[in-house]
This record gives sequence, structure tokens and C-alpha cells, in this order.
Amino acid sequence: MSRNASLFERASQTIPGGVNSPVRAFRSVGGTPRFIKRAQGPYVWDADDTRYIDYVGSWGPAILGHAHPEIVRVVQEAAVGGLSFGAPTEGEIEIAETLAARIPSIEKVRLVSSGTEATMSAIRLARGFTGRPKIIKFEGCYHGHADSLLVKAGSGMLTFGNPTSAGVPSEFIQHTLVLDFNRLDAVEAAFNEFGDQIACIIIEPIAGNMNLVKPVPGFLEGLRELCTKHRALLIFDEVMTGFRAGPQGVQGLTGVTPDITTLAKVIGGGMPVGAFGGRADIMDHIAPLGGVYQAGTLSGNPVAVAAGLATLRLLAEEGFYDKLAAQTAKLAQGLSERAAAANVPFSADHVGGMFGIYFRETVPTTFEEVSASNIEQFKKFFHGMLSQGIYFAPSAFEAGFVSSTHDDAVIQATLDAAESVFKTL
Ligand SMILES: *Cc1c(COP(=O)(O)O)cnc(C)c1O
Repeated sequence: MSRNASLFERASQTIPGGVNSPVRAFRSVGGTPRFIKRAQGPYVWDADDTRYIDYVGSWGPAILGHAHPEIVRVVQEAAVGGLSFGAPTEGEIEIAETLAARIPSIEKVRLVSSGTEATMSAIRLARGFTGRPKIIKFEGCYHGHADSLLVKAGSGMLTFGNPTSAGVPSEFIQHTLVLDFNRLDAVEAAFNEFGDQIACIIIEPIAGNMNLVKPVPGFLEGLRELCTKHRALLIFDEVMTGFRAGPQGVQGLTGVTPDITTLAKVIGGGMPVGAFGGRADIMDHIAPLGGVYQAGTLSGNPVAVAAGLATLRLLAEEGFYDKLAAQTAKLAQGLSERAAAANVPFSADHVGGMFGIYFRETVPTTFEEVSASNIEQFKKFFHGMLSQGIYFAPSAFEAGFVSSTHDDAVIQATLDAAESVFKTL
């Protein structure tokens, strides 16, 4: 038995499903998850010492490649000075100032330890600030695993949704409206019906949790207008896209300004850091200044903050995002060309350091279109690539990630493998 398989068997004895986050279990592609021993630059090595080119990148954080020497150095240095104090530190000011300086819509920011905490807190803040109960989210967007967000669309367009998890009472989601991504008319209808009860819209402004789906022209602008008109808050969940799609996230790319932004993943550089920030008059509603409660024992942890700050410093280097986007484009284009050569219906899209691959003719713009891609072909492609030492996300509904260490040779090796795998589909 492979060491991966024996570790998976052993893990399953004491860890539910053998994993600490469900997508890691390979359930949607089948097979044995790889247990990772170490990682460096664009590579990860599994328990059997097999090396893979990695396009998961810890699901987004590893934008500088794994174990970047400068990040490792600052983490070691910070650890020597103490792991956690439960009292404020200067590093927290520095990262807050950095986030506020880089992302114009953020005037004040509160640190948490995960994306889930960031979105959960942002929604509580929006409800506290507006005094309204209802929220709008979009089918296919993921905002972490808080109760009110584990919901899918109901039967009618303007009915409230159904829980997508056992353990979430329907009462907990009775204020969550689930609408179609990229359908502005549905949002307009929701505001017409419930306008004065809607606290906020939360959206992944480029969706990365139903594969990669970009907003159609006018969609984000329309959401902004509707929120402003009805005095609801617009929350951009940039946990994935922040410092990944571009230096100022999607808001920098589109010029659409949210009231609150949530961040995590890249801003921790591989350590647990999340954040939510926005206009000062909104943020001042959080405790201890305001009545919206939010707290965390390890929030702003000094070791995690050191990793985040070092990451943000390196991302500010001249030309970083141009290079990253160029490599990502080479990958997406190269995959499309090789699929076409093998007559496989396939398309790809990309932005900054993230990409989507779709086993369908055209790039999808809706959850429905993404769902209609050829999942069986994706599974074959995934396992074919894996057996050639290329590690893509083990699900057809996840975006992929490129790091600054994915140089031309790494991309070429990936495309060479893809050329032979597409021919087998
Ligand atoms: C990953 C993700 C989250 C959840 O973040 P965690 O750190 O896993 O809790 C929330 N929103 C988006 C858009 C994400 O991609």
C-alpha cells in the first residue's frame, strides 16, 4: 500500500473523513488524497516522496510560492519573540495601515483568524449598522461556513433558501435571500420587495468557489447602485481575490467600491489571518466603540501578522502582478490550445494569479452554466495530470492558483503533461 493510502486509512480512524476540511478528501474526484510532507516554491511532495507542481497553493495563500525564504525568516524571528500575547502589538498597526493604504475602500480594519470569521463578522456589522435583518447572497458563492450562509436557492426566485448543511435550522436562514450570480434583474426585484429590510449584499466580486466566474459588465456597478439607493451595504468578499486578482483586489480592477471588504488567504501568507474593513463610520460600530460584538483570542497573532506583513511587502514590488498575470495567462491559453488540438470541448479563463478551467466550449457566466460542464472529463483530466506530477484542485468547482515561482519551465512542464492527458479524454 502507498504511504498516502496507509496515512489516509490511519487518519480516518480519528479524524472524520480523514481530513480537517472536506474538499481535501478527494470525494468529488475519487481516489486517495495525497498527504503532503513538505513544499517549496511551486512544488509539493507527498508522503511517498512524489513531487507535484502545485496549482492549489493552499487554496490561495501561497502567492509567493511555498516556504518563501523571507516569509520563513520573519516567522522564525517573530516566534522567538513570543507566540501570542492577547494584548495589542505594533505589527497589528502596521498591517492595518498597509491594508488601508493599499485598498482605498478600507479606512479601518479589524483582524480575525479566518475568512469565515471575517464574513460572519462583516454581516453582523452590516446588520448592526443598518438595523435590518435580511441579506442577499448569490448561488455558487462561498463565504465560509457561518450558519446564515450555508444556504442554496429556494424554489422560486424570491423565496428564501434551504440550508445546505444539516444542523442549520431553517429559522437561521430565513433572512438569507439567495439569487443568481450575474442576474441584476433578480436583485432589483428583491430590493423592490424587501428594500427596507435588506442589510447587505455579500458577493465574491469574481467568484472563485464555483470554479472561476467573472461578473458580466454592469453587474457589480448595478449592485453598487441598488445598495446606495436602498441604503444597504455592499460587502465584497475578497478573501480569495484580495491581493490575488490584482494589487487592490477586484475593486481595484473594476472601480466598484464596496462598503465593507473581507480578506484572508493571501494576507496571512500561509498563516491564519483574516480581516474585515471599510468606511470608518461603519467600522466604528464594532465593540469596544459600538454595539456590534466581535472578538478573538488569537486575532492579530504576532507570528501570523509577521508573515502577512512580509507577504504584503513582497507583493508591492514593481511589476509583481504583471508577471504573475502573464504566467497565469500562459497556462490558461496553453491548456486551451492543447485541448483544442485533442478535440476536447474545453475553455479557460484567468485574472491575476487565479484561473478557471471548464470542460465545456465556452467560459461560463452563471452557476447553471458551470454546473453543466463535463464533470466526468474533469475527473479523468485531474487524475491523468496527478499521475504526471501535476496537482490541480480535486474538484471541478474550484479556481486554480499560480504563484510567482511558477516560471516558464514549470508552466511548460504542465502543458507538456496536459498535451498527453487531453489525448486520453
Ligand atoms: C476561502 C474563502 C472563505 C472562507 O475562508 P476560511 O479561511 O476558509 O474560513 C470565505 N470567502 C471566500 C470567498 C473564500 O474563498
